[in-house]
Amino acid sequence: MSVFSNSAFDDHERVLFCRDEQTGLSAIIAVHSTVLGPAAGGTRQWAYASDEDALYDVLRLSQGMSYKNAMAGLKFGGGKAVIIKSENFKASDALYARFGEFVETLSGDYITAEDVGMSPHIMQTIATRTQYVTGLPAEGGKAGGDPSPKTARGILGGIEAAVRFKLGRETLQDTSIAVQGIGNVGYHLCAMLHEAGATLTVADIDQTKVQRVCDEFGASAVALDEILCCDVDLLAPCALGAVLTADTIPRLQVSIVAGAANNQLQTPEDGQRLEDAGILYAPDYVINGGGIINVACEYAGDVDDEGVMELVAQIGPRLTDIFETSVATGRLTSEIADERARQIIAAGP
Ligand code: NAD
Repeated sequence: MSVFSNSAFDDHERVLFCRDEQTGLSAIIAVHSTVLGPAAGGTRQWAYASDEDALYDVLRLSQGMSYKNAMAGLKFGGGKAVIIKSENFKASDALYARFGEFVETLSGDYITAEDVGMSPHIMQTIATRTQYVTGLPAEGGKAGGDPSPKTARGILGGIEAAVRFKLGRETLQDTSIAVQGIGNVGYHLCAMLHEAGATLTVADIDQTKVQRVCDEFGASAVALDEILCCDVDLLAPCALGAVLTADTIPRLQVSIVAGAANNQLQTPEDGQRLEDAGILYAPDYVINGGGIINVACEYAGDVDDEGVMELVAQIGPRLTDIFETSVATGRLTSEIADERARQIIAAGP
């Protein structure tokens, strides 16, 4: 398995392959950059088709974390971990504790948190072996706990900014929104969108989750292969990445794409395809920064929950600025975000 010639390799500082025969743990931790501070980013637990796919994912996601943390104004670099759910994978406290030991070997260069497939309980188990972990239950108004509601809050602000900019609407009342993936973030987002008066169309592999949002928020369910091409105002991808491709973009019927998933564009060219189709794209790592803001504040211990909400509230205006720059310069929103993130990292802490 090649690392340095992997198409997602971007001069990552460190890549740690973690294997433990006794518990069956196979994981990869990628530290992309510690220029701005310790590399912060979640651990994803997923059944990858191959080890190569897992490596590609962790390399790409960790680079995205460097950009996300920089754009959120955090003094953290970018990192990510994946726990590979292979055929014989068996979740156990011992496996997650062993993963925690691997995180500890990096001596704080990598700080882990929750991502797809993880839970606060798993984070607590990891925390039995390493101090470099966040997303732990918080008390007394302190920042901490499951970052998903804060991620959803930031996305709500980003959606409001995009709808105002593209559709000229001051509220989300009667705005039609398709949400792909009703997991930790998707569920909270649906609750917030419903409260704001939006109408929801949803899809998820897990029908229990779909039923819940239909019952609680009056959402309409569609098939997995229909959610991307719904005739609605806005698509919020909240499942996995690479959903915006040469194949899917021509089938989109929306005016805006704004959602939680990391790495929504399969390739950088997909940003141009969206632009050519007249679709406003909210760069993923800018709009979905609410969770990492929560995680960073928990780790630093210097901002309470109210302070986190103030930082998360800056996501909407940050996106508006990117949208306006895009129109003024004729450049893609994704390019503008990448350039700004790289400039912040190059300027140093
Ligand atoms: P999650 O695992 O709780 O939810 C993902 C959901 O997507 C699951 O319900 C799953 O069944 C569904 N799904 C998977 N493939 C699907 C498909 N093809 N079609 C429809 N549904 C599908 O994860 P999450 O924490 O809600 O994160 C969602 C996305 O947001 C991920 O890409 C994650 O990296 C990103 N993200 C999450 C956070 C956070 O705070 N949790 C922060 C930033 C970004």
